Amino acid sequence: MKRIVIKVGSHVLGEEDGLSLKRIYNLCEFLAELKKKYEIILVSSGAVSAGWLKLKLDKSILENKQAMSAVGQPYLMSIYARKFEKFGIYTAQVLLSADDFDSRRKTKHARNAIETLLKNSVLPIINENDTTTIKELVFGDNDQLSAHVAYYFDAELLVILSDIDAYYDKNPHQYLDAKPRKIVHQIDKKDLECEHTPNSNFATGGIVTKLKAADFLLKNNRQMFLSSGFDLSDIKSYLLENKHIGGTLFCKK
Ligand code: ADP
Repeated sequence: MKRIVIKVGSHVLGEEDGLSLKRIYNLCEFLAELKKKYEIILVSSGAVSAGWLKLKLDKSILENKQAMSAVGQPYLMSIYARKFEKFGIYTAQVLLSADDFDSRRKTKHARNAIETLLKNSVLPIINENDTTTIKELVFGDNDQLSAHVAYYFDAELLVILSDIDAYYDKNPHQYLDAKPRKIVHQIDKKDLECEHTPNSNFATGGIVTKLKAADFLLKNNRQMFLSSGFDLSDIKSYLLENKHIGGTLFCKK
């Protein structure tokens, strides 16, 4: 069975005052369908948004975000567990940090655990360990983590479900004439060096971290697909019907 990693951004899961249960439910329903055809690993942001429902602290202070993430992570997992159980799927929480991929021994331990979960049809839900690693909270929003997860845990494809429906030739929130790119084979060095463009108090990634993730995967012979997490129709067409209608595929020529 083909293995894929799905990463969902904080923007998609969260909204102004917490979490969008509707979008989380739609995502779970879609992943349950997908799981019949693929081995799935989910990388989920959203812990800070979930924590904010319980602990309303000033989000501009890093320690507060760490505390909110610590409160929100088990809450978010309990929502996933409840929703996925409706589809007969058990979930597992796996907290990782970039350091876990620095050592071969640690990567192997993590991979063994993931393999065992997948073999037993459990859905691993990965997040960065925010109380010890601050990377996700400061930049990245799990984009890079999910690229590492895809590569080191042997997935062929990383799907990033974002607040944006594709990678455009320029920022579509700034330029009305921006055009979506359907297939990208290579990423220009200058595009990897642009400023981060986070889009809300909760999101920390922006397009640059997605391009970095794509660049890493392309160099390691993997693929990445970027599409909307608000409207799942493009990713459904791509993965369930083999039709590339919308969204950007990053793949080698
Ligand atoms: P998420 O949190 O959903 O993963 P982000 O908000 O971090 O996503 O990143 C996507 C945002 O990046 C878009 O909403 C857009 O504002 C910005 N962006 C900047 N340049 C581009 C581009 N060329 N193509 C697409 N999005 C871009």
